[in-house]
Amino acid sequence: MFKNLIFDWSGTLVDDIGPTLEATNSVFVRHGKTPLEREEFRRLFRLPYGEFYEEHLPGVPLGDLENHFRQAFAESTVPVTVLPHAREKLEWCHERKIRCFVLTSMDRATFEKQLDELELQRFFEATYSGVLDKRNVIGQVLSNHSLAASETAFLGDMVHDVITAKHGGVSSVALLTGYTHHDVLAAAEPDWMVEDLLAMRMMMNAYKRPDHE
Ligand SMILES: [Mg+2]
Repeated sequence: MFKNLIFDWSGTLVDDIGPTLEATNSVFVRHGKTPLEREEFRRLFRLPYGEFYEEHLPGVPLGDLENHFRQAFAESTVPVTVLPHAREKLEWCHERKIRCFVLTSMDRATFEKQLDELELQRFFEATYSGVLDKRNVIGQVLSNHSLAASETAFLGDMVHDVITAKHGGVSSVALLTGYTHHDVLAAAEPDWMVEDLLAMRMMMNAYKRPDHE
């Protein structure tokens, strides 16, 4: 089925909700807001994150929020880990020569650090980080690497990822491993909705063409 997969990062390949929540709450408390509980955060947080902050901390310059967030994120002692089945999924793609890419909002320095520490670099042909609105870049990813939209899927855990996939004309795969509740994601009407990357691998195996084709 798909020859190319574009992955979101947080909540799709890695679990960084712990330090993200800690850093978000650090920003909230600094500006006099009550910290969010984990499930409350999963219900409220959305991309582009500028809109999320404008809603909850109106009028505070985004640059200030970003600086504080990044510092708090870097200081967090909650570990960032590779999500279950993510590495196996990437190995599976590598063996089948399915081309893999990353498109993430995470700032470049933090992303590159995680990519290196988690030893995932070798799986990706190219990565795009620090992308505030992924709709503005998805077309560029397709054209830069000559990817046919009909052979490509964008996998992510947030509504913005589904919207981005539709915007780019690629298949949208919504994963339930990350930041967004099932009902919120379902309302965005992704082409596929899967529990995790093991389910995605099984789905792609089921759709595998016979060898003679
Ligand atoms: Mg994500």
